[in-house]
Amino acid sequence: MNRPPPGRDEPPPSSRRAFLRDAARAGAAAALAAVARHAGAQPMNAPDRPADAEAPPTALGYDDAYKLHRTGEGHPESPERLQAVLDGLRQAGLLDRLRRVAPRPAAEQEVLACHTETYLRTVRRDVESGAGSLSTGDTTISPESYRVALLAAGGACAAVDAVLAGKARNAFCAVRPPGHHATPEVGMGFCIFNNVAIAARYAQKCHGLGKVLIVDWDVHHGNGTQDIFWRDGSVFYFSTHQSPWYPGTGREDEIGEGAGRGTTLNCPLAAGAGRKEIVEEAFQGKLLPAAAAFKPDLVLVSAGFDSRAGDPLGGFLLSDEDFADLTRLLLGIARDHASGRLVSVLEGGYALDGLASASAAHVRALTEA
Ligand SMILES: [Zn+2]
Repeated sequence: MNRPPPGRDEPPPSSRRAFLRDAARAGAAAALAAVARHAGAQPMNAPDRPADAEAPPTALGYDDAYKLHRTGEGHPESPERLQAVLDGLRQAGLLDRLRRVAPRPAAEQEVLACHTETYLRTVRRDVESGAGSLSTGDTTISPESYRVALLAAGGACAAVDAVLAGKARNAFCAVRPPGHHATPEVGMGFCIFNNVAIAARYAQKCHGLGKVLIVDWDVHHGNGTQDIFWRDGSVFYFSTHQSPWYPGTGREDEIGEGAGRGTTLNCPLAAGAGRKEIVEEAFQGKLLPAAAAFKPDLVLVSAGFDSRAGDPLGGFLLSDEDFADLTRLLLGIARDHASGRLVSVLEGGYALDGLASASAAHVRALTEA
C-alpha cells in the first residue's frame, strides 16, 4: 500500500478542492499520490492510459419507458424526475457528448441473484392485480411497473457491459424506480428491485469480477443493499445517510456478519451535514482508506441526489460542486484499483431543479475522468 511521506498526510486547507481534482486525475490512492505530488514526488500510480490517448465517452443509460412507472399526482418519485435529469444534462451541454446505452430488461435469473423467487412472484402478482402499491411496503405501482423495474435493473447491467467492454469509460444510469431500499424479499421506499445490487452480482457472475464497491450517497440508508450483501465479503457497502431518518437502519455498528463482517461501513449523520461531514470526514476520512484496503474491481454508485441542499425528503446540505468532488474521489478509487471502471445508478433526488443541476455536475465530472 502506498504511504504518504511523514507529516504530509493532509493537504493545505486552502487547496482542498484542487487537491480532490488532483487526486482523481492522478489516479492516486486517491489522496495519497496527490499528497506525494504536493510534496514534489512522482505520482505513485501511473494512469492506465497515456494522457493523449482517445478515451471512450461516458455512457448514459436511459429509456423513455422509465417514465411509464406511474406513481400518481403529487408523488415525489415522479416521471418528471427523469425529464429533469435529461434537461439538466442538455442545458449543461453534456447530453450530446454521452454514449447512449440502451437498457434491456433484466433476466429473471439476474434478479434472483439478489431477490427471492417468492418476492419476484409477489411483485408480478401485485402489478398484474392492478394494485396501487406493493403488498410488501411503501412502493406505489402501476400496470407497467413490473416491466419498468426489470428495465431499470437491466439498464444498470447493460451499463456494466458497456464499461467492461471498453465502449464507455464510465456510466450514469438515469433509471426509475430507484432500488436501494429493496431487500431480498421486501420492496419498500419507492423501490422494487435493487438495481445497483443486481448490477454488482451481474458483474461478478457474468464478467468474473471478484470485488465490487458500492458507494451510496443518497440521504437515506440503503437498507436493501446492506441486507443483500450482509454476509458477503466480496461486495463492500459504504453509505452516508441522515440519522435518525427513514428507513431507520444504518447504525455505525452495523458492519456485516460472517464473511461479510467489516465490508459494510455506515456513516450516519445528523440533519444539517454537508461538505465537512460528508466529503471530508466520511468520504476522505473513512471511505478512502477502506477502499484502499478492499481494492475493488468495480465501483458502483447509488447516486441519490436527495442529499443535496433543498431536497424535500432530506436535510443534508451538499452542493452541486460537492457532488462533483465526490465523483472525482470515486473516480480516483476506480482508477487506482479498477482500471477506472465506475457505473453510477440514480436513486433519490426529489427537488427537480436540484436533481437537474446535481446530476449534471456528477456527469460532468464523469466525462472529465
Ligand atoms: Zn433517498
